[in-house]
Amino acid sequence: MDEHGYCLVTNDDGWDSPGLAVLKKAVRPLVPVVVAPESERSAVGHAINLLTPVRVRRVKRKGVCDYICSGTPADCVKLGVKVLLDKPPVLVASGINLGPNLGMDLLYSGTVSAAMEGAILGFPSVAISLVGSGHLHWSTVLAVVPVIIRLCLSVGMPSDVLLNVNIPNVSLSRLRGYRITRQGQARFNEDYQVRRDPRGRTYYWLRGNFKKVPAEKGSDVEAVTDNYVSVCPLRLDLTDYHFQEVLQKSLSKFI
Ligand code: MN
Repeated sequence: MDEHGYCLVTNDDGWDSPGLAVLKKAVRPLVPVVVAPESERSAVGHAINLLTPVRVRRVKRKGVCDYICSGTPADCVKLGVKVLLDKPPVLVASGINLGPNLGMDLLYSGTVSAAMEGAILGFPSVAISLVGSGHLHWSTVLAVVPVIIRLCLSVGMPSDVLLNVNIPNVSLSRLRGYRITRQGQARFNEDYQVRRDPRGRTYYWLRGNFKKVPAEKGSDVEAVTDNYVSVCPLRLDLTDYHFQEVLQKSLSKFI
């Protein structure tokens, strides 16, 4: 492991999130370069800016963020690699997200999409989220992240795979270990709150509760529920190879 290599660090909670500061600390001895969104971009998914310019502010005073970017998490990674860093990073790390990225929900995640962008650009990439609220156990995160980084950099990551890591928000003594998992089926049970603005016009606000699927053996949700760190390898290739064959066989009946 090149201990003097860059780790491009970003998130979707914005440049002033405490999770970003902890991640910057946790990736050492890699040299962190932090490129983060100027405001919260949670649930923007893999959006990038094409029709509007992206602006970057170099932060001169000593702080967590090196570059504050007007774009999305994926923009931050793209711009970081292609413009801001003077050599390629050895790792792209996104987080620490304040809240889970599990099951179907990770398809909306800006945190995961930043790591996905890192993988698309050809670098070992990892998205890290802290599952839970209230008192946040940053000492657990600081113990877990170096393990994940060593694993990621020594295992030889396939070029189209990233790691989605979820850490249960418990003390280190209550953490039971690590599980290599698969993406679960759990998703939010959603509806829209209907409201009225001061001019009498109707608007809608999405709300929901995360709904676990019972007995999902080996899933990311099961791991964090059991107080294990979930390490889930995700592929960029979304093709369903089994159903591709089914479709191929069925196609002839319709043409
Ligand atoms: Mn977020």
